[in-house]
Amino acid sequence: MSQIMTVRGPLPADALGFTLTHEHTFLNLAAFPTSATLSGLDAVIDPVRHMQIMIDELMIFKQLGGVSLVDLTARNMGGDIEATRRLSEATGINIIAGCGWYREAFMDEFLNFRPTDELAEELIYEIEHGFGNTGIRPGIIGEIGTNLLHLSAKEERCLRAMAKAQRRTGLALTTHLPQGGVGLELLDVVQEHGVPGDRVIIGHADIYMDVAYHVALAKRGAYLSFDNIGAHYDVPRQEPALIEHIFQLIQRGYVERILLSHDSCWRSRLVHWGGPGYVYISRTFLPLLRARGVSDEAIHIMTVENPKRVLAY
Ligand SMILES: [Zn+2]
Repeated sequence: MSQIMTVRGPLPADALGFTLTHEHTFLNLAAFPTSATLSGLDAVIDPVRHMQIMIDELMIFKQLGGVSLVDLTARNMGGDIEATRRLSEATGINIIAGCGWYREAFMDEFLNFRPTDELAEELIYEIEHGFGNTGIRPGIIGEIGTNLLHLSAKEERCLRAMAKAQRRTGLALTTHLPQGGVGLELLDVVQEHGVPGDRVIIGHADIYMDVAYHVALAKRGAYLSFDNIGAHYDVPRQEPALIEHIFQLIQRGYVERILLSHDSCWRSRLVHWGGPGYVYISRTFLPLLRARGVSDEAIHIMTVENPKRVLAY
């Protein structure tokens, strides 16, 4: 039976339901001093002070039909996996946790002094036995990637370790990519290790809406994660282009490669602080897709069937 690993244990794949595939819950991006992308307290969602706020955020998602979400708070992003499990228990929302290394600014110096295979073994142990001594197991590898237009040396090596962990465990591998065609380079690296294209999710696809690039990735089986939906809520004129882009990919036959999410990672993205929360897609974006001519069946595939197919192992 195919299953999905959540922070509360294994879940039958058919119970996954409507799923957001690239989000965060508790995190502290200000915790890691070499990160260049800080915006102070906006980047801190604290498991003690903000637990009730986060419960409320997920309950609104649930009321609108939400069932599951993927929390990609990787190492050194200030997550708290036990608090995330409490959040899941309090709301009934299934949470699938990511694991591994994120990107250069969040990677420790000592990584350079350890062989790739040792990093892979450490990650495989974590996937099979859980984070630390919590017993809470990850259900996806990543988000791993770069903010450059190429992979840095450390990023490439962590990616290779994570590709090896993918081969051993079967979990999907999900990524963080900026503008430019870095997704193809990343796919080349993981495929050298035998990772099938359809076990890879290309993250932040909406940051670089190039149809030819996305078709090239999809032809190799990769999933395209449009996961900053609602993040440009203060610049609404970008949204018609995104809707048209997704519509065009569906027209070309790639509906089974598309994932939708918000990448909620700042206080200002939560409903409590006036942002889109975990509900902008349900409330606003899906109606806009329907108005453009995207069928209910296609929406079901993107929000239920694709997450289930990629997360099951
Ligand atoms: Zn993210």
